[in-house]
Amino acid sequence: MIIKYEDIKSLTEDELKWWLREIGEKPFRADQIRNRLFCGQVASFDEMEQLKPALREKLKESFRITSLTEVHRLESVDGTVKWLYETADGNHIETVLIPANGRYSVCVSTQVGCAQNCAFCRTAKMGFIRNLEAGEILEEIIRVNWYLKSINALSRDNKQATVTNIIFMGMGEPLNNLENVHRVCCTLHNQKLFNLGKDRMTVSTSGVVPKIKELVDRNTPCCLAVSLNSTNNEYRSSVMPVNKVWPIEKLLEAIDEYIRRTDKHVTFEFVLIQNITCTPQAAKELIRICAPRRVKVNAIVLNDGDDPTLHAPTPDEVERFLETVRAAEVQITIRNPRGRDILAACGQLAYKNKQGKTDANTESA
Ligand code: SAH
Repeated sequence: MIIKYEDIKSLTEDELKWWLREIGEKPFRADQIRNRLFCGQVASFDEMEQLKPALREKLKESFRITSLTEVHRLESVDGTVKWLYETADGNHIETVLIPANGRYSVCVSTQVGCAQNCAFCRTAKMGFIRNLEAGEILEEIIRVNWYLKSINALSRDNKQATVTNIIFMGMGEPLNNLENVHRVCCTLHNQKLFNLGKDRMTVSTSGVVPKIKELVDRNTPCCLAVSLNSTNNEYRSSVMPVNKVWPIEKLLEAIDEYIRRTDKHVTFEFVLIQNITCTPQAAKELIRICAPRRVKVNAIVLNDGDDPTLHAPTPDEVERFLETVRAAEVQITIRNPRGRDILAACGQLAYKNKQGKTDANTESA
């Protein structure tokens, strides 16, 4: 199916106001429409009863209101929930909800597939299909809120759980879709809508250096995480092709500029791979890079991918690595793997067709 109309959720407030003016409507309707789209639960323009039927018709003629269809939902034993969605043009993406200590974090996909081709990541095997529209990314989050509302309705304590944190760490490279990711962050930050603080949204990049600068120029309301994963250019280039274009020195320059201009810290994601990135030598090199900078390290034990040559370290090896880094007073935390049983953990999001081939371009599962 071809996408005929734009998703209305992709429009900024100003763009929607402009469209309303063009068709002879009052621009203040934009607030009403956006409030229903982002804070209500509407799946058709007809449900916007406060709008005149003539305006609803015009909206229907011009825009899509929903873009995703749920193919299935998987629930992990640890409470993580993963959705597989089909887009209007028949592609597939995944979204993950990670509940923890009263927080509801959503890991969103920003692209169908990914072009970065990291050796340890399953999404890479899909190749790159296309960028997601802002409205599609926002719908991933809206649908989690709908889900939480349905759970709330069932629970007796009447607590109104809603999404509290967004991590742009699902399928895709968010900085290669910066225009749309910026729109999404602005809508999420909007006080009248999601009202999420800047520190509740984290954009994670494999290291697309010029886009890190652009993120600062645009003043996108978010925090930055960088998938450093290795401190050695030769190895990093062999598992993360982006390093061949922007090696570690260039990446660090961009990070230093980001820290200077935003006055915020940067998080380094660091995947621990046995005998490679989880060694005493690797810990020392990580300290050398981190000690002089305002950075925190988020270590991630390698989750099963498709590369049989890469293995997760033992718990003892992980502990020794963490101790070495901590002893140098570099802040390091370990990311608890969540949802491994449903392949919802870092680097495990991918769409497999009926033949078991990792491919987003074919029929649905
Ligand atoms: N493209 C972006 C965001 C998606 S990947 C980026 O590279 O940052 C999100 C995180 O998952 C990254 O830090 C990545 O290094 C990590 N990751 C990928 N595959 C993994 C695996 N098999 N095990 C553990 N972490 C993995």
